Amino acid sequence: MPVFLDTSDAGFEHGFATLLSAKREDSPDVDDVVAGIIAEVRARGDAAVCDLTGRFDRLSLTPSELRFSPEEIAAHAARVPEAERVALEQAAQRIRAYHVRQMPEDAWWTDPEGAGLGWRWTPVSAAGLYVPGGLASYPSSVLMNAVPAKVAGVERLAICVPTPDGVVNPAVMLAAQIAGVDEVYRVGGAQAIAALAYGTESIAPVDKITGPGNAFVAAAKRRVFGKVGIDMIAGPSEILVIADSDNDPDWLALDLLSQAEHDESAQSILICDDAEFGRRVVEAVEARLETLERRAIAGASWRDFGAVIVVRDLEEAAALSNRIAPEHLELCVADPEALAAQCVHAGAIFLGAWTPEAIGDYVGGPNHVLPTARSARFSSGLSVLDFLKRTTLARMSPEALGAIGPAAEVLARSESLEAHGLSVTARLQRLNRGTGG
Ligand code: NAD
Repeated sequence: MPVFLDTSDAGFEHGFATLLSAKREDSPDVDDVVAGIIAEVRARGDAAVCDLTGRFDRLSLTPSELRFSPEEIAAHAARVPEAERVALEQAAQRIRAYHVRQMPEDAWWTDPEGAGLGWRWTPVSAAGLYVPGGLASYPSSVLMNAVPAKVAGVERLAICVPTPDGVVNPAVMLAAQIAGVDEVYRVGGAQAIAALAYGTESIAPVDKITGPGNAFVAAAKRRVFGKVGIDMIAGPSEILVIADSDNDPDWLALDLLSQAEHDESAQSILICDDAEFGRRVVEAVEARLETLERRAIAGASWRDFGAVIVVRDLEEAAALSNRIAPEHLELCVADPEALAAQCVHAGAIFLGAWTPEAIGDYVGGPNHVLPTARSARFSSGLSVLDFLKRTTLARMSPEALGAIGPAAEVLARSESLEAHGLSVTARLQRLNRGTGG
């Protein structure tokens, strides 16, 4: 049974704090192993990547076999059934259309002192996309990472995907093809992250690495951060559903289970304003669990981390949602826009009962790579901005330097940075001699 809390109960705060601090990630101490793998790849390049792929994925490769050939990608992609191809193409088109709108504008203006100022956005030159797990990997994640990178204008995209025992997921190859990525390596784990960050003879280094993965991948991403950029460290999935009693309990049960089935450590929470309604949703979850293919995973997640919270009103619901800062927030209430305005810490919000979270996983348009573990308090889901850098621009006219340069001289002196001050002084002296320009 999931936790059942009621904000009217005296013990509510204690129960809620326990829920928030539940340790959901089973994190074995993998950092030492990962440090060793990264050192090996840096020292021995391709040879290390091939050895590690043999050890962890039971696949014997020579360096020239690390990268899929264009013919191999095409042959695997061609195995995908037509309906799946059409759906992936529709998803890609919608994800592209959404992310095109995220492209930020450059700016340039002249201020009252005559200084030209602004900024300019440019893409990273090369990005590496990690696609976890081989067979159990998600082609939708390939689109969610690769499409924004392409929209941002990233010139080179490289995908690393493990193929345990040599088994390839054809839908991943098709998704790469649809997204326009032709550089795909059959390499996984920490060795893939190390190769993307530091480069080997066959795998040129990238500037930014995105994509989810297991504990080894996460630890490797943490370790290479600084040498390259990373998107985030994604933890187990989460959903918070806020619903009034005017909902079908079965719909809500399925929405809660849609995240629970990802992972035993996933978390699904329902907030409602009627205890009896909450109990009906719990019954609906139990009924659906009996028939669900992934009932073992979903059942464990719901039993260990699921929760129902009964509130007095929607304002209280919004306040609790802000403390939870969920990855996914579904608002199944009469006026979802009004409630959404109060919910300020969430990775993605789904407005109204006709918007199941699963739409956002695949075809809605917004990105499904989202902040977990309460990090929506300070971060956002993957977007084109993750593949762009902002460079500031400034151009002084002699008049502008004359107007603001003296303040720079004063500040440079106060920081004892003589050359800083003199670089301005030399120019101002020329200006004062009347030969500026
Ligand atoms: P993975 O690709 O992340 O990891 C497989 C690799 O781990 C192997 O290739 C191997 O190199 C390495 N590895 C395994 N055991 C090792 C060991 N003992 N020592 C060193 N390296 C070892 O695939 P996975 O394991 O299936 O994990 C995928 C993860 O990604 C799951 O946690 C899943 O929930 C998550 N995921 C998240 C999303 C998302 O969008 N948030 C999407 C898909 C998957």
